Amino acid sequence: MFRRPSITFRTTAFVTVVCLALVALDCWNSWNSRAEQLQQMSVAASNLARAMAQQADDTIKQADTALVGIVERIEHDGTQPAAVARLRTVLAMQVAELPQLDGIHVYDKDGNWVANSRQIPPQNLNNATREYFVFHREHEDRGPHIGIPVKSRTNGKLLVPVSRRINHADGSFAGVALATIEVAFFLKFYESLDIGQAGAVALILENGTMMTRRPYSTDMVGRSMLGTGLFQAYTTQGPAGTAEIKSAQDGVTRLNSFRRLANYPLFVAAALSKDEILAAWWRETLWHTGGVTLLTLIVGFVGWRLVRQMELRSKSEAELLRARDALETLNKTLNTLAMEDGLTGLANRRQFDVALDSEFSRAMRNASTLALILIDVDCFKQYNDIYGHTAGDECLQTIGRTIASVASRRPGDLAARYGGEELAVLLPNTDVADAAVLAERIRTAVRDLEIVHAGTPDGFVTLSAGVDAFSPALTSGPPKELVQAADKALYAAKMGGRNRVCTAMRPAAA
Ligand code: GH3
Ligand code: MG
Ligand code: MG
Repeated sequence: MFRRPSITFRTTAFVTVVCLALVALDCWNSWNSRAEQLQQMSVAASNLARAMAQQADDTIKQADTALVGIVERIEHDGTQPAAVARLRTVLAMQVAELPQLDGIHVYDKDGNWVANSRQIPPQNLNNATREYFVFHREHEDRGPHIGIPVKSRTNGKLLVPVSRRINHADGSFAGVALATIEVAFFLKFYESLDIGQAGAVALILENGTMMTRRPYSTDMVGRSMLGTGLFQAYTTQGPAGTAEIKSAQDGVTRLNSFRRLANYPLFVAAALSKDEILAAWWRETLWHTGGVTLLTLIVGFVGWRLVRQMELRSKSEAELLRARDALETLNKTLNTLAMEDGLTGLANRRQFDVALDSEFSRAMRNASTLALILIDVDCFKQYNDIYGHTAGDECLQTIGRTIASVASRRPGDLAARYGGEELAVLLPNTDVADAAVLAERIRTAVRDLEIVHAGTPDGFVTLSAGVDAFSPALTSGPPKELVQAADKALYAAKMGGRNRVCTAMRPAAA
């Protein structure tokens, strides 16, 4: 069967649920705000990458556009001294116009200078072994080529070579037009970006060559990025994407956003440190967690106090109930003791007096009869003298049991010890004749017990009894007159020789 759990259990469960709910709610909240923070940073990194890609694309495009014009001019005008002189002026103007350019150079099919933007071509230098030169000589492709960064042989600067092939009229290789963009130009732009203390940005060739990077170090330029997490993410995720990568170089985990340039085989990457992104979140979460822990402790403590008080209260309630039960039992015992005769177990004199009064009143009200038998043990003093007081007590007990069994036939009948060896039986709704019959039956029953008594003429213990009854048909006084009349009858029985029943003589009704 289902038992309703106790209030203590339910309160404990409630407090526990409240505490758990507080903690769960805070965890959920913190986790959500963390995800939101990372999402915002992912958007920021993506925007950074977009801006970087745009800047790189524009920078290269401007240089490349200049090259397209120069290639067209050479292929059309040829490399006669007059044409070359005009070309030099154009190159110088172009370089002056475009701040990203270190220089523009034109080489013949053997790698020797035809012209350059600096007006004075370096002597005894040949570029036939440069990567971009070899590329154009071996590829008929007329598109732009972005080469791996080179260190300038004239000024030592790190440069990104953007080049195009120059053809003879028959389509054979005639040389290379080269524009060199300073690595520092990109770097200057990257320095202006807000990427925090541990952020990083990079410009990388699609073949995996690092063009430049912030934080910058010279030895990073030209290094292969093949096999790095970033390069793998780029090759698997396509032209644009995001990836969380732990850097092999400094061990920092970063949120990387990468994007390919619209027109050139390069991609940029913007990376923000995850620790930096989450620093503010951590601070906020620590405050939160501290607050919630404190709140949970307070709720838990208050709940614990409440449960303890409930336990104490229910304990004291149980104790009160036990005390009440004990008092009730004691009361009942005291009541019984107050109304019962200790020796015979019959009603005592006090109960007899109360019953006599109330039964008398009832008989008056109901116009019914009330009979009384007064009994006295014959020669009892002698019994004590002969057999001892203890035997006398036992004899009285036996007589008491006998009277109780014969007399208590109806609910209202009451057998009592009137005093000493005198006993009384109160019989409501009984007339004197019926009472006399009952008294006779009691007398016979005791006589038939055959308790030996050497002091009586009979040789056994006997009783004498006086009977009277109150009837509304007869004039009658207070209850004590009923007792007096019965006592008188008893006296008559004694006088008549004992061991007999006498009925009171009453005057006829008025
Ligand atoms: P009778 O009534 O026949 O005239 O003679 P009796 O000897 O009974 O007369 P009396 O009333 O003078 O004596 C009553 C005796 O009953 C006196 C007392 O010793 C004895 N008695 C009264 N109460 C008790 C009791 O509780 N226990 C014992 N053992 N004896 C009691
Ligand atoms: Mg007596
Ligand atoms: Mg007597």
